[in-house]
Amino acid sequence: MFDTDILIHTQVMTRHIEMLDALFKHATEGIVVVDKQANIVMLNPKAKELFGYTDRELIGRKVETLIPQRFNKNHVGYRDEYLEAPRARGMGHMMDLFARRKDGSEFPVEVSLSPFKTSDGEFVVSFVIDITERKKQESRIIEANLEIQKLNAELEERVQQRTEELAAAIKRIEQSQEEVVRALTKERELNNMKSQFVTIASHEFRTPLATILSSASLIGRYSHTEDEEKRQKHVQRIKSTVSNLTEILNDFLSIGKLEEGRIHCIPVLTNLNEFCKNLIEEIRGLCKEGQEMFVSYDGEANAWLDKQLLRNVLFNLLSNAIKYSEPGKTISLRVKNWSGLIRIEVQDQGIGIPEQDQGHIFDRFFRANNAGNAQGTGLGLNIVQNYIELMGGTVRFHSEVGLGSTFFVELPNREPASVKL
Ligand code: ADP
Repeated sequence: MFDTDILIHTQVMTRHIEMLDALFKHATEGIVVVDKQANIVMLNPKAKELFGYTDRELIGRKVETLIPQRFNKNHVGYRDEYLEAPRARGMGHMMDLFARRKDGSEFPVEVSLSPFKTSDGEFVVSFVIDITERKKQESRIIEANLEIQKLNAELEERVQQRTEELAAAIKRIEQSQEEVVRALTKERELNNMKSQFVTIASHEFRTPLATILSSASLIGRYSHTEDEEKRQKHVQRIKSTVSNLTEILNDFLSIGKLEEGRIHCIPVLTNLNEFCKNLIEEIRGLCKEGQEMFVSYDGEANAWLDKQLLRNVLFNLLSNAIKYSEPGKTISLRVKNWSGLIRIEVQDQGIGIPEQDQGHIFDRFFRANNAGNAQGTGLGLNIVQNYIELMGGTVRFHSEVGLGSTFFVELPNREPASVKL
């Protein structure tokens, strides 16, 4: 080689070295070079600044000097593995890396490694970036995200709460609407009932009042002693007509009280057997000519019952049996009182209830087609059903036109739960 070539070569080399030196000195990343034994052999000014060391302090020390102690053990393993087969790569994939300053404080870093060879041997250069600011930024973003999530959750909760409040308000409105409709319906029913009452009262009262009037004027005419029998007959007629009118008025009163919820079931221990016998004796007087009334009783004599309600029920069923049967027919009252259940049957051999009317006979004011001239308001069975329900029982019937009807009542015989004083 000529001298000039050597000179040029030397000049080029010098320029390269100067450039490399400038790169090394002015790099914004920390550069730390280690040998195959992980001893630090070189570090740039930025690295010294990052770690807070002077050159001399680090040269010849293990690279672990720059890593927090708690990671040192693992790091020795990783770096030995790396130094076996070094290649250029980032460090700590998917891991947060920390570096240790001279004063022991830590800071987050990003590190990439590159192996190289010189005539002096194999080395690894690490490029270290302090990512404290980036991490702060990240945690600010995470915090902001958390805040957003919290706000979202609060918002959702508020929306949910408002939705629930709205649903409750709608429900309240619906309920009050229903209440208004119910009140209106009730009022309409009441008005209907009143006008039906007026119709029925004027119709049902006219005949008995005419009977009373004619009987009274006839009594006035029977002034002789021998007319006593005729007088008594008319007195009797007046009495039974007045009692009919009283029954009708009582039915209207009962309906009114039921409507207002003023009727309650108050069971007392009653001798049911005696009760039935007495009732039959009382009703027997209403029988038409030749009609016979039988009572049979089976089971325990005593029962827990509301006597007033039961009296009304049986009185209604038995007087219907009389009313809707021809003279000379038989009427039976059968009672069974076993194991907490009272079964009552009221059977007649009367006109029966037409099939097409059977679905309505418990309706208020309903009267069957074949009721004809028999006095009545169509309230009795409605009251019966209401009273039986109040007593916790049931009522049903079987009827065939021309053959007769049987009403079946079932009532519980239970001692009411004792009242605490
Ligand atoms: P009413 O005052 O008309 O007797 P009820 O409510 O007691 O009213 O009875 C309703 C209707 O049921 C009666 O009008 C009658 O048509 C029919 N009914 C009730 N009981 C009998 C019965 N034992 N036999 C035939 N029909 C009956």
